[in-house]
Amino acid sequence: MQVLRTTAIVFLIAICTGGYGLHAYGSGKEKIAEPDIFKQRRQLYESISLKTGMEWPYVAAVDQYERTMSQAHPKSRPIPKDAITGVFVSEQRWSGELNPEGGDSNPASIRFFHGIGRDGSGDGIADRGQDEDLLYSVVAQALLGGSSEDDFSIGLWEYYHNTRAVQRIMQFAKLYKSFDRLELSGHTFPLPLKSNYSFRSTWGNSRGWGGKRIHEGTDIFAGHGVPVRSTSYGVIEMKGWNAYGGWRIGIRDLNNLYHYYAHLSGFDKKLKAGDIVRPGQVVGWVGSSGYGRPGTQGKFPPHLHYGIYRDRGLVEWAFDPYPLLRRWERDESKALRSKR
Ligand SMILES: [Zn+2]
Repeated sequence: MQVLRTTAIVFLIAICTGGYGLHAYGSGKEKIAEPDIFKQRRQLYESISLKTGMEWPYVAAVDQYERTMSQAHPKSRPIPKDAITGVFVSEQRWSGELNPEGGDSNPASIRFFHGIGRDGSGDGIADRGQDEDLLYSVVAQALLGGSSEDDFSIGLWEYYHNTRAVQRIMQFAKLYKSFDRLELSGHTFPLPLKSNYSFRSTWGNSRGWGGKRIHEGTDIFAGHGVPVRSTSYGVIEMKGWNAYGGWRIGIRDLNNLYHYYAHLSGFDKKLKAGDIVRPGQVVGWVGSSGYGRPGTQGKFPPHLHYGIYRDRGLVEWAFDPYPLLRRWERDESKALRSKR
């Protein structure tokens, strides 16, 4: 059986790479914030919501999107350790391109030079190092055209010139709105722990044929029909057929990670793109779909291909989900044992 398994794994590495966007190597370290920081953030969002008239989930979503960009680009977007906001604005953008004073903090001269810096805290200074001023300035910029969801989307597009940024912020806002809280970091293993499954690290193994793509994910072998569960809180971003991945579903979480579940035998029919999911929620079932026309099944043994991609603004980078899978498996089994 072991030999058969190994052969199957090698075969699968060859066939289930690819099929999703732009790829490159990356690394994924998730930081878990202290509960106190969520209280401080929530206060900041409520105060900016009061000043702008925009509901706090949208303010929070802008901040969170900015935070994920700052985490993905720590060198070009340095954030002080004690900052409450994740917003980064370059000096030039803050002060205005032609402003002779690079570090300008005078709201009137900044406005004159079309900088985006504003005073959000009410002290008369537009301070690029201050949480309230930073977040308020970006939110106010996005609200220039109006505060309806459509106007806000257009305002965000004009600020970022990136449709993905707008999509992310709207997804994050939806998550915050539906749970009415910031702390949404729980995780589960994708398959029920009591089910029969096996997996090992297969990151980076090269395909035998069909180009030089690497295997970007972990294959979890399990029987046909074993439930596949969302590993995180998130929004369904993609659901349908893909020539490599078969029936696959893509879920975006608040860390701006895209969780990719492929080769499913089917989906939970009630779920559609834009829907919110929780950790442990069943989204589909293990299968062997893919590698052919829509509906093709059985070209390889059933398994779940699980991949994670980090949105870095303009491209997404895959990173090895194996260590996270092991951690989630361990944490969940610990939690189950302590409940007994
Ligand atoms: Zn795979």
